[in-house]
Amino acid sequence: MKYLELRRQVLQTAQEILAARMVTGTWGNVSLRVPGEELLIITPSGMEYEKLQPEDMVLVDFARQVQEGSYRPSIETPMHLAIYQNRPDVNAVVHVHSPYASAFAVAGKPIPVILEETAQAVGHIVEVVPYARCGSKRLASQVVDTLGSSGRAVLLAMHGMVGVGNDIRDALKVCYITEKTAMVALLARQLGPLPSLEQKDIDSFRQGYQGYLQNPKDE
Ligand SMILES: [Zn+2]
Repeated sequence: MKYLELRRQVLQTAQEILAARMVTGTWGNVSLRVPGEELLIITPSGMEYEKLQPEDMVLVDFARQVQEGSYRPSIETPMHLAIYQNRPDVNAVVHVHSPYASAFAVAGKPIPVILEETAQAVGHIVEVVPYARCGSKRLASQVVDTLGSSGRAVLLAMHGMVGVGNDIRDALKVCYITEKTAMVALLARQLGPLPSLEQKDIDSFRQGYQGYLQNPKDE
């Protein structure tokens, strides 16, 4: 079977979002772009992540045809595909239903950049994609519009969050940091008005962090 290592990464990440309680049961989904190909590997629809094997991950082409796999691909495959087609820099997409980010998504309020690590790992206010039903093409196109040319995370109204990255650990980290930021924002709001980092600091943290990741030995 092709791409076994990539399939393993997708499954491990799906199992991790479950263990981290960013999803319940079979909700959420994870995918990877196959490098250099118009193909993606995605979690199957409605299956318990803990019972799956790497071989159960579904290989789908950019025309949304299943190339290899015994199960149906995730219901959110149109959204994952639309992101890869519009963002050549994105190689992994992680979609979760984590509670604090979901609170902002339900309230229709963006998550502000209140922590240095949010500026570093995400680099922008996490905006809310207007409501569209899960799995719909409308949701897919609205996610692409809201992510824009450099967005790393968005909230889905009445639903959850999507994080994207250069690789699967990067996309997962975006989800962790976005969820933590939402939690801290809600807690800090109890203590008074919520401040936010200034745009110049956000930009400088993000740029500095990208340089740090590329040259870890320099630090
Ligand atoms: Zn979902």
